[in-house]
Amino acid sequence: MPSVISTDVLIVGAGVAGLWLNARLRRQGFSTVLVENASLGGGQSVKSQGIIHGGAKYALHGALTGASEAIADMPRRWREALAGNGELDLSGVRLLSEAHYLWSPGTLAGNLTSFFASKAVRGRVDQVKGDQLPPALQDKRFKGKVYRLAELVVDVPSLIQRLADLAGDGLLAGQTIEPLLEAGVLVGLKVDGREIRAQRIVLSAGAGTARLLDDLGLSQPAMQRRPLHMIIAKGPSLKPLYAHCLGGGTKPRITVTTHPAADGNWVWYLGGDIAESDGVAREPAEQIATAQKELGQLLPWIDLSQVQWATLRVDRAEPLQTGLSRPDNAFLAEQGRLLVGWPTKLALAPDFADRVIAALERDAIQPQPAEPLPALPKPPMSVPAWEQLLP
Ligand SMILES: Cc1cc2nc3c(=O)[nH]c(=O)nc-3n(C[C@H](O)[C@H](O)[C@H](O)COP(=O)(O)OP(=O)(O)OC[C@H]3O[C@@H](n4cnc5c(N)ncnc54)[C@H](O)[C@@H]3O)c2cc1C
Repeated sequence: MPSVISTDVLIVGAGVAGLWLNARLRRQGFSTVLVENASLGGGQSVKSQGIIHGGAKYALHGALTGASEAIADMPRRWREALAGNGELDLSGVRLLSEAHYLWSPGTLAGNLTSFFASKAVRGRVDQVKGDQLPPALQDKRFKGKVYRLAELVVDVPSLIQRLADLAGDGLLAGQTIEPLLEAGVLVGLKVDGREIRAQRIVLSAGAGTARLLDDLGLSQPAMQRRPLHMIIAKGPSLKPLYAHCLGGGTKPRITVTTHPAADGNWVWYLGGDIAESDGVAREPAEQIATAQKELGQLLPWIDLSQVQWATLRVDRAEPLQTGLSRPDNAFLAEQGRLLVGWPTKLALAPDFADRVIAALERDAIQPQPAEPLPALPKPPMSVPAWEQLLP
């Protein structure tokens, strides 16, 4: 029978939310165990585009209110962590781009008046031209306007690796999770039969959280899934581009990020409106044809003849939203020792950790003397989608 473990905080789900929280808690002297049933970061996190939003995207449709500052502060907090002098030491994590760009093809700039007037972007957006343009847009046929946003793009696989290193001996590969009850009160979890007692239990299992709540006999907080159908392109002619391409609506027509493939090529990862409702309804071949047509119109100078294509279906997992909910904060709900939430964005992992830590402080939870952990089976690292789909 495996040994019983006592820890301060038991976390389930090792995506960016669980890993970031785990590293913050360990840095504050708490003992932790972080359970993962598949691979580290392999849920939504490693399938994300890695943009550390500061809220500019929401300002396009006016959803970012002056009262919600959490997301506006994320680029600074990530920048400090990446420089090794922030709330976590993420030095060594690869930064893919110092900036994300807003690219308005043709003459759409007129639609941006309210965007430039909004608090989220005021003083933080500069127009760029000539050799300051992203490499993929440096062509004499390029006619649009490009603005540099103070938002970063991180290489998520290297982020996950660093956060896994910061987790030390606390990672646990575990499949079956059952409640550990004492007099009807949840005091921990049984993971593959091993009892883990904890002062607090955090569920940060992304799309898996609904099922976990079900297993614990709970129905709240309710979760929603938002399906996406992303496009992946790899080829020797693709140059770095990190940009929201505007289409006149309230959402970017396409959001392009560029990622290094193991074979030395760049991968373009395409999201935005193209990957949402109509894109979700398209079959993969149709979705690829749509992307080829869009890129052919927007960037006719880029030779796509050697490019390999794939698509990836993935759901965003979020708290069930009402028309009034704000997209720019992490979400955390509490029931006794159990804390349950979703960061709602990779960029908001620090905000998710803040909320858990604030709940611990409010309840005067202190690190308790802990026995060293036994050797635990470790979950594997995740593999980026393009290495699986376009090896
Ligand atoms: C295509 C796409 C692009 C995105 N782009 C961006 C972006 O550019 N910028 C941004 O800020 N956000 C972006 N997001 C959102 C962002 O990826 C997510 O909000 C964030 O990664 C969620 O992190 P998480 O840790 O909550 O969930 P996940 O990364 O999904 O991690 C949850 C983990 O829990 C594990 N798990 C599930 N069930 C169990 C169980 N029963 N037991 C143990 N473990 C379990 C899973 O295996 C997984 O590893 C994007 C999302 C998608 C889908």
